[in-house]
Amino acid sequence: MNKITNHLPTAELQALDAAHHMHPFTSDGALAKKGVRVITSGQGVWLTDSEGSRIIDGMAGLWCVNVGYGRGELADAAARQMRELSYYNTFFMTTHVPAIALAAKLAELAPGDLNHVFFASSGSEANDTNIRLVRRYWDIKGQPERRVIIARKNGYHGSTMGGGSLGGMPYIHAAGGKIDGIEHIGQPHWWAEGGEMTPEEFGLLRARELEEKILEVGADKVAAFIGEPIQGAGGVIVPPSTYWPEIQRICDKYGILLIVDEVITGFGRTGNWFACETFGIKPHIITIAKGLSSGYQPIGGSIVCDEVAHVIGNADDDFNHGYTYSGHPVASAVALENLRIIEEDGIIDHVRDVAHPYLAEKWHKLGDHPMVGQTSLVGLMGSLQLTPNKATRAKFAAKPGTIGFRTREHCFRNNLIMRHVYDRMIISPPLVITTEEIDVLIDRATKSLDAAYAEVK
Ligand code: PLP
Repeated sequence: MNKITNHLPTAELQALDAAHHMHPFTSDGALAKKGVRVITSGQGVWLTDSEGSRIIDGMAGLWCVNVGYGRGELADAAARQMRELSYYNTFFMTTHVPAIALAAKLAELAPGDLNHVFFASSGSEANDTNIRLVRRYWDIKGQPERRVIIARKNGYHGSTMGGGSLGGMPYIHAAGGKIDGIEHIGQPHWWAEGGEMTPEEFGLLRARELEEKILEVGADKVAAFIGEPIQGAGGVIVPPSTYWPEIQRICDKYGILLIVDEVITGFGRTGNWFACETFGIKPHIITIAKGLSSGYQPIGGSIVCDEVAHVIGNADDDFNHGYTYSGHPVASAVALENLRIIEEDGIIDHVRDVAHPYLAEKWHKLGDHPMVGQTSLVGLMGSLQLTPNKATRAKFAAKPGTIGFRTREHCFRNNLIMRHVYDRMIISPPLVITTEEIDVLIDRATKSLDAAYAEVK
């Protein structure tokens, strides 16, 4: 076989890929039919494919490349660490400097008394950790019957058995089942489900479903509630302003642990280090991954408050959980360097500067498009709801997702990566995007909307 490099013709790479590579969330049928796009390099917010096209990445990979592609400092940090200590574990009373330094830095950055970090290699693993953490906490506190975790329909918390079960996506549950002890309540998606209510009324209604569920399950059986501050994979659904304060009140009232999944929203995406600050939420645990290393290394974790960490850490028995790569030295060193870049380059201030009013004005202006019913934007995370009738908030009659899929395909053709979730178009670009690049993104998005609209109107 020829050596497989970027220099092979695209068709040959596609054929090898179709023959041997099983893709996440993709069917082999679709792959074989369409042929995949082969990405060969990246710089800043730009990707290049095997045909030489320059693509603007409106999704920062999978919501993760916060500092942009091609940062040499991150490659250097990885190489330095590999030479010095390529691997050692953090089990059995050992540790190493990269894990210590990263945990200490995260404790400094995280709000309140979130001072302790349990490392994993992904967001899914971190949420699996959270299931064990909260159940273990209540065991030690003498309340072992508190096992139920309440989550939301259309939430996303990963794709392991634990993460997929916490998520509220039936098609993921259908792929191999769902673990016990997870309950789901409705999502705060006003546009699709709010009917005649105001967003604020609907936000309260959906938050109060948490209280109803707690009473239904039994307050003494509930361990925790988990939610994303803004649902990401569910379609960038920004909750009404009334939602999170009411969730917080209910968790406090029943003494339930609050887990906030910041895998997407952490590390500057919403204009603060964490979206908990943007929304005024006070969690016991924050899930992190993605932007922690800007995707340069697989790393995630749980940032845990003093009370939970002390109860678990001071117990007589071990917390019997961990991964070979928990606190991996290379991943930790790269994450630490990534946090240094975010801090020293003033990337969070940059997010605030370009998001409001520059991007916000242009993004909300897309709401004038005949097919766009709602525009949402917080920091550099936004969505467009496509609809055939703005006044009635109607859905397209065809299978949900058809128009979104078409629009996404036009984006691809126009060298813009924008994702669709059913009939919502979403962006989450690298945080280093400039105003000139925002213009390119908006221009290509408008062209793609026009092209899709021309096919359905
Ligand atoms: N939690 C949220 C909110 C996510 O968006 C994701 C991934 O998109 C995950 C968890 C899972 O992270 P990973 O894919 O790193 O396992």
